[in-house]
Amino acid sequence: MLIDKESFPSTHRKFVLQFHDDAACLAYLEQLRWPDGFFCPVCQTQSVPWRQTRGRLVCPACRHQTSVTVDTIFDKTRTPLTTWFDIAWHLTTAKNGLSAKTIEQTLGVSYRTAWAILQRFRVAMVRSEREKLSGMVEVDETLVGGAKQGGKRGRGTSKSVVVIAIELKEPKGFGRIRMRHIPDASGESLKSFIGDVVTAKSVVCTDGWTGYSGLPDCGYEHHKTVLSSSEDPAHVSMPGVHRVASLLKRWIMGTHQGCVVPEHLQSYLEEFTFRFNRRKSKSRGLVFYRLMEQSVTTKPVTFNDVTFGYDWQNHGRRS
Ligand SMILES: [Zn+2]
Repeated sequence: MLIDKESFPSTHRKFVLQFHDDAACLAYLEQLRWPDGFFCPVCQTQSVPWRQTRGRLVCPACRHQTSVTVDTIFDKTRTPLTTWFDIAWHLTTAKNGLSAKTIEQTLGVSYRTAWAILQRFRVAMVRSEREKLSGMVEVDETLVGGAKQGGKRGRGTSKSVVVIAIELKEPKGFGRIRMRHIPDASGESLKSFIGDVVTAKSVVCTDGWTGYSGLPDCGYEHHKTVLSSSEDPAHVSMPGVHRVASLLKRWIMGTHQGCVVPEHLQSYLEEFTFRFNRRKSKSRGLVFYRLMEQSVTTKPVTFNDVTFGYDWQNHGRRS
């Protein structure tokens, strides 16, 4: 079966017809992974591989045996690829994605399996979020999760601190976002995040928190809005961050029923970011295609990454 490189289903009906069995899924992944033909990872030869049962491919030059899923997030999976594809479809086409609980109830896989697949797709999502934000960027922190209300800013509270950056468009509207779960709202945490996600020379808009002082020394133009009142009317001074923070919290409480533990919070932030940044995409099928494309070029995510939290700063393998 030959698949057009930019081929992706436009409706769920077409999706079901196209990916009716694992062989169809494998053929699709092969096209995405080796668009110019099979490439042997050992002897680096481009060739037409010998095909064996269960999707095994053999390099005719060096006899190395491999498969399209080896060294990707699908590596060694025992879950049918049709299930992976089904989850990816809903993850990219449903307005709010879907939870592991919903997958368990609708696709007949265990909660653990569903969770592990979601985690791996979230890692694949991040690969496409590399380009830094630019122009005018609003940055502020918010508190997520935990039982207590209020508390000091990022300290002495059971909530997690999340810093959000969002591009502001002229004359109005918002562009892309980035988010990070940080240990505290210190200048070190905030400026390291800004340095990683915002292009130098951009205009960074913040409130008067001392953690943001010194941004010009880091190569940014700093627009600071100092509020006269001690109350924080974030919706007035930081409309972009405020909007994203409220959508994020609603999504966590709704789709995931608030069940987000701190060690996995960043995974949820990455999924939210991926979906938010593609909210204007006209074709959901294209978003599905992009996620699958990333999935065959993303290295395996280990069991430890899935269980104890992925190390986002170092691309996995938390020591
Ligand atoms: Zn070879």
